[in-house]
Amino acid sequence: MKHLLDLIRTIPDFPEPGIQFRDITPLLKDAGAVREATEALIAPFREREVAAVCGMEARGFIFGSLAAQALGAAFVPLRKPGKLPYEVASVSYDLEYGSAALEAHRDAFLGLERVLLVDDLIATGGTARASCELIERLGGRVVGCAFLIALRELKGRERLAGYAVHSVINF
Ligand code: AMP
Repeated sequence: MKHLLDLIRTIPDFPEPGIQFRDITPLLKDAGAVREATEALIAPFREREVAAVCGMEARGFIFGSLAAQALGAAFVPLRKPGKLPYEVASVSYDLEYGSAALEAHRDAFLGLERVLLVDDLIATGGTARASCELIERLGGRVVGCAFLIALRELKGRERLAGYAVHSVINF
């Protein structure tokens, strides 16, 4: 995974002092690397009968959609509040400063029980934890959580204890 790691650009102090922002856009410019990263992302879940891949707005949509196509599964977007047009369920969660929320359509997982959660990066795990709660509240079963990047020192995996957690590139 060395060359995938080389395609992640680290920007210090963005969006605020002290944050090392892991920028995936150099990787997205390389179609071969995107294909390889997608394969590595879904590898542990190929035989897990995933019915739907769920991705969080916004960067979770990129590898979430790619993973869904590669698995022959549906894609379900979790969106920021006020974006989805039909009846929604929402979940709120704490960020380092303030809070955030995600929404899904109430019927998002009807007939799609086995769900793989995908995001570009796991930091504290708060976003993923809240996403799992929302999926389960709507009748989905989380078969795993897959991330392109994990920031290990933030111990996001601990927030996801009990779930199968997979990451391709680890910092
Ligand atoms: P968390 O809820 O703390 O696991 O944060 C995860 C979300 O925040 C993901 O959707 C990431 O895209 C974004 N994020 C958090 N930290 C970073 C970082 N250092 N670089 C890029 N994205 C980040």
